[in-house]
Amino acid sequence: MLSGAEALTRLREGNRRFVAGVDDPNAALRQTHRLALGRGRGQEPFAIVLGCSDSRVPAELVFGQGFGDLFVIRVAGNIVAPSQVGSVEFAAGRFGTRLAVVLGHTQCGAIAATLEELRQRTPHQSPNLRSIVDRIRPSVEPLLATPLAQDAEAFVAHAVRANIRAAADHLRHGSAVLECLVADDGLLIVGAEYCLETGVVDFFDGVPEDA
Ligand SMILES: [Zn+2]
Repeated sequence: MLSGAEALTRLREGNRRFVAGVDDPNAALRQTHRLALGRGRGQEPFAIVLGCSDSRVPAELVFGQGFGDLFVIRVAGNIVAPSQVGSVEFAAGRFGTRLAVVLGHTQCGAIAATLEELRQRTPHQSPNLRSIVDRIRPSVEPLLATPLAQDAEAFVAHAVRANIRAAADHLRHGSAVLECLVADDGLLIVGAEYCLETGVVDFFDGVPEDA
């Protein structure tokens, strides 16, 4: 299994190919790989991605990866609730995957919805939807007291990154299992933002200096 730093390099290379529109040099192996995975060879995903459900941010495509490469968890606003923590625990524990990426993105609708909700509470909002907003709220609410509150675009941009940082931090410190994997087995947990306009993924949180 790749180390966290090696896995990060592979994701960065894949994103560079995606942005440049270059085909994956290993694409010919994909079909063989898919068949092998189906024949019971099991899976060995080299990275875990906890991303937003937004249809414009498909993790495998933006990282130039294929069958069996990524263990992907997607939920609106890339929030971290118990089932997401459990999914990361499962993949890191079962497959030995050493990199977990929280992947948020620019112009995230879940962040914008949280901001709207903070400004004007929606009556009779679905409790299920509210449970998502409630997990994003702590990253967004403090920004309302800053000058950013006057600039909707800048506000969402800051809130997106704050929400990614909070989610990555939750994974690092919200689970005894993951804490042990980080301390003893070198699990690397990083935060990244995908830019809808450029296609570039910026790994901006928790990346070791030499990675
Ligand atoms: Zn989103």
